[in-house]
Amino acid sequence: GNESRLTAISQITNREKMTVKTPEPLDKIWATDVFNLATMEQALNKSAFKAVKQTVQTGAPLAPAVADVVAAAMKSWALSKGVKFFSHIFYPMTNITAEKHDGFIVTNSEGNAITEFSGSLLIKGEPDGSSFPNGSLRMTNAARGYTAWDPTSPAFIMHTENGSTLMIPSVFMSWTGEALDKKIPLLRSNAAMDKAARKVLKLMGEEEIATLNSSCGAEQEYFLVDLNFANARPDLLLAGRTLFGASPAKGQQFDDHYFGAIPERVQVFMQDFEDQLYRLGIPAKTHHNEVAPGQFEIAPYFESANIAADHQQLMMTLMKCTAKKHGFMCLLHEKPFAGVNGSGKHVNWSVGNATQGNLLDPGSTPHDNLNFLLFCGAVIRGVHKYGPLLRAVIASASNDHRLGANEAPPAILSVYLGDQLEKVFQDIKDGKIATSSKGGEMDLGLSQILKFERDPGDRNRTSPFAFTGNRFEFRAVGSSQSVSGPLVAMNTILADSLDWIAGKLETELANAGSKTEAVLSVLKTLMEEHGNVVFGGDGYSAEWHRMAVEERGLKNLPTSADALPYLRDESIRELFSRTGVFSPVELESRFEVYAEQYILSIEVEAKLVIEMAKTMIYPAATQYLAELSMANNGMAELGIEMDNAIALSIANETNAMVAAVAELSSAIKQHDFDSVEAHMNYCAHDIRGLMVKVRTHVDALEAEVADDLWPLPKYREMLFIK
Ligand code: ADP
Ligand code: MG
Repeated sequence: GNESRLTAISQITNREKMTVKTPEPLDKIWATDVFNLATMEQALNKSAFKAVKQTVQTGAPLAPAVADVVAAAMKSWALSKGVKFFSHIFYPMTNITAEKHDGFIVTNSEGNAITEFSGSLLIKGEPDGSSFPNGSLRMTNAARGYTAWDPTSPAFIMHTENGSTLMIPSVFMSWTGEALDKKIPLLRSNAAMDKAARKVLKLMGEEEIATLNSSCGAEQEYFLVDLNFANARPDLLLAGRTLFGASPAKGQQFDDHYFGAIPERVQVFMQDFEDQLYRLGIPAKTHHNEVAPGQFEIAPYFESANIAADHQQLMMTLMKCTAKKHGFMCLLHEKPFAGVNGSGKHVNWSVGNATQGNLLDPGSTPHDNLNFLLFCGAVIRGVHKYGPLLRAVIASASNDHRLGANEAPPAILSVYLGDQLEKVFQDIKDGKIATSSKGGEMDLGLSQILKFERDPGDRNRTSPFAFTGNRFEFRAVGSSQSVSGPLVAMNTILADSLDWIAGKLETELANAGSKTEAVLSVLKTLMEEHGNVVFGGDGYSAEWHRMAVEERGLKNLPTSADALPYLRDESIRELFSRTGVFSPVELESRFEVYAEQYILSIEVEAKLVIEMAKTMIYPAATQYLAELSMANNGMAELGIEMDNAIALSIANETNAMVAAVAELSSAIKQHDFDSVEAHMNYCAHDIRGLMVKVRTHVDALEAEVADDLWPLPKYREMLFIK
């Protein structure tokens, strides 16, 4: 049973060297496969182009007549590039990307093939909604839904070995207008944020205010494992993580991977991957090794949140496909290897517009500083008030393994501001910053902070939510997750806080002597009520886990079973209704879908644990026991007595494993629960507990069974053989 593992090693060792393509110059390939504004300017008449541009920049709806013109231009552009199919591409409630391909081709009565693509085909598609999880919305809408083109995200061409397809970024909704996807809420949350931000900026005396948008730059961590190994591990194939595996003698303790050179084979993969990204207009900017052996990171330059979210989904798809082409399996799972650093997705987020710039940038004038303090304060309030929501939007069976695991942010949401900015907010709270008697605007010297905080040496890496000079970085997001959920939550809590601020500010401005005084007074109240969430210390420490809960009143929600029920909390339901981001029905359907996914993925893993233990580990252990007993008997015939400690220990571990497997098998038969919450809790504790129990015995066996009999590729092999 061990052949696949040993064959894998020999195949990797004898692998032919990859031929390295010379990289193409950036200006030759940049956005060549994107139907973006530049392409449209060439392809459309002046008035159609003007209309489209208006839509792209403000989100205003597009007239049907213009859609026809755009569709025609899009079709001829795509056909000229050898495309025969088109597809609306959309993002259901799970983290996947969905597509339904249609041919441009139709035949006429003479039997000739002609191509057809009208404005209405561009605008609307009809996938079969029943194949996507819709929660309770499934019942109310009989599984029907349609996709509609999102003109604010450009269409593009995907090339695969099976042909090229025109991809049309779309929303996915029910016939009664409920959002069935992750894009609609993101667009709505942005609109809510725009509306609330506008109120505050108006009160601050801004006259011209362009549409506000949120921006996102996501750093994606991932592992690469040779495909020969991955194919020999049912757990990697089906669950994306190893369910068994003893720690290698050498792990990441030397830090030699992070600072080391990127292995050549990985460099070749990265270059191929990035060239594809450039063709798709995705601005890949940095790549490097990560902390664990076999772990890497890629980060594109930030873009508007809606486009960044689409691009992030596309990146995850492309990464997996490209890795395969290079003989790797790309693991996006948050914790593929126990005891080894996990993978996250740092979501860098800011909000701004063309007239006021980035409002999370302190800026260089006292006036800019005030706007900045208000927006930053709004974020602080939001994270404090809705911490459990932020925890819920990053909840998944896989991310639970990483959060709080001592190399990843804890499951407690706090805000890191950096020493200087924290002091400014503390001083405001303590009433130590007062305005001058003349009542003018006061220079708080915040532009200094910008310079200082950008020094990465000063960054607190243990915080789940950190200010990094001109943006916030949500670090607790999992590597396999869509960035949309976190972006929706951040935009919405910001909208809520800005609304609250606008209300207070209006009153204060009427009473106070100056704008500065009014702002400081609002922020003082804000900090008194919400300052508890600001924390600059070690987020990994036991002391923080105690203090956060006992003294600060923050919530520690270690598992998804603890976090997801907050989506049903009255305050969260109100938040989303008030801002128009989710109706109560839409929110409830999210809870149902996420809870179901959580339960399903743990059940799949539990079944795999049972199967692998019985069909792979047990045979290896008993085969080795048979060999040992033969050897012992043979030696006894020669009059030599062997110590049977190893045989005894293996027999004991094997029996204990079999007993634990039996326990787990009967545990997963339990299907009678009072509520989804109870079922989730059962999975989080009982099922997961038993899975760990089986694993403990399997990992002990791995350390004792003869190496040549062990069926599963080992950690040292998967992590170190490149
Ligand atoms: P680090 O590893 O030091 O956090 P990186 O350069 O790897 O930094 O990634 C930072 C990410 O943040 C990039 O995607 C970058 O484009 C993005 N980013 C920079 N400024 C902003 C901003 N104002 N808003 C949103 N994202 C930003
Ligand atoms: Mg970062």
